[in-house]
Amino acid sequence: MTKLLNSWVASANSADSEFPLNNLPYGVFSINGEDAMCGVAIGDMILNVTSAEEAGVLNTSDMPVFDVPYWNDFMDLGREAWGVFRNELMAALSDGSEQKAALEPHLVAQSDATMHMPFAVSEYTDFYAGRQHAENMGAILRGSPELPANWLHIPIGYNGRASTVVVSGTDIHRPMSQMKAPDADMPSFGPTKRLDIELEMGAIVGTGSNMGQPINVDQADDMIFGYVLLNDWSARDIQGWEYMPLGPFQGKAFGTTISPWIVTSAALETFRTATPPRDKELLPYLDETKDGLYDIILEVTMQPEGAAKPTTVTRTNYSRMYYSAAQQLCHHAVSGCEMSPGDLLGSGTISGPTKAEYGSLMELSWAGREPFTLDTGETRTFIEDGDTLTLKGHAQGDGFKIGFGDCQGKILPAVGFPFIA
Ligand code: CA
Repeated sequence: MTKLLNSWVASANSADSEFPLNNLPYGVFSINGEDAMCGVAIGDMILNVTSAEEAGVLNTSDMPVFDVPYWNDFMDLGREAWGVFRNELMAALSDGSEQKAALEPHLVAQSDATMHMPFAVSEYTDFYAGRQHAENMGAILRGSPELPANWLHIPIGYNGRASTVVVSGTDIHRPMSQMKAPDADMPSFGPTKRLDIELEMGAIVGTGSNMGQPINVDQADDMIFGYVLLNDWSARDIQGWEYMPLGPFQGKAFGTTISPWIVTSAALETFRTATPPRDKELLPYLDETKDGLYDIILEVTMQPEGAAKPTTVTRTNYSRMYYSAAQQLCHHAVSGCEMSPGDLLGSGTISGPTKAEYGSLMELSWAGREPFTLDTGETRTFIEDGDTLTLKGHAQGDGFKIGFGDCQGKILPAVGFPFIA
């Protein structure tokens, strides 16, 4: 197995660093409110590739691609260019590199940086590919873990909202909409009482496909630029009233949080793991020729306002999923739907087989029937105002980690609706 690769950036040479030379994830940052720039995380530093490109110390391509505060232009160069750039970065940042003196002026401390969205989200689609989650939701909502008839055949998804995908650290206001209690005659309006998270991975499409042109799973896998952690905030009572017959709408549209660093498929390559055995054979267009999932250890913490420390509420692994991102992307384009650089695909909630591995509070509290206790002694069923939820994730190598950076959001009270007097 690959070992820790040493860098002249000393903080990267630690088994605990999320960003060793093996990782090199891509983000967008600013310092002191100045213009946002593209950067690469290395140890506790960021290599400013916008200024390095401008100074001519990085040969990215014939054209500047980092003169914009997002990675979409670079993604659009294609997989071959991604590999060339990654190799160049690895050589330039490795221990003993002659480029050290030229690159050092382009390093900034992560602690001085504000992170921004790493890419412009073209469109956002969310899937429902975690089997344990789907079975739990069936048991909770319909009284049976039996999967919908299509579930073992189709990677189920819905078209979400790109407009409200935000970077880690962005506060989220408790959403309002209609909901209806099962025993009520009429719906009511107000802030959700069942605000939840969904622990997911987000796959970022790096190169597009053309309208009318399906792609196979291998082509789809090659189109995926990288991955982020993704929290699909969900209002269960709003969702419960609105979702029949066309699926999620306002219960999901108010916010989706992603981690700030795009961890590339290349950095994750050695952590590939197979999708599970199939109960029902998939139709041949969804066949994979390589392992489509990744061994990524995930956890979620919850920290009430004023609490000294967060409490870990779940620990699971991305390898629990039934469908890979490549299968989801293949299915997404199968009818001829055009895909673009910057398309974001949510994996679906990642839950493992035991309660300690459930990826939503809906499952952890079994729809509010079984409150759980935080380290502070407080109990929770769903999220309270002032709570901060944090997703963390990493692939564990031999003496190194491939980390994602935190995917964090704090819930603020509902803002109030401007009713007409
Ligand atoms: Ca979801």
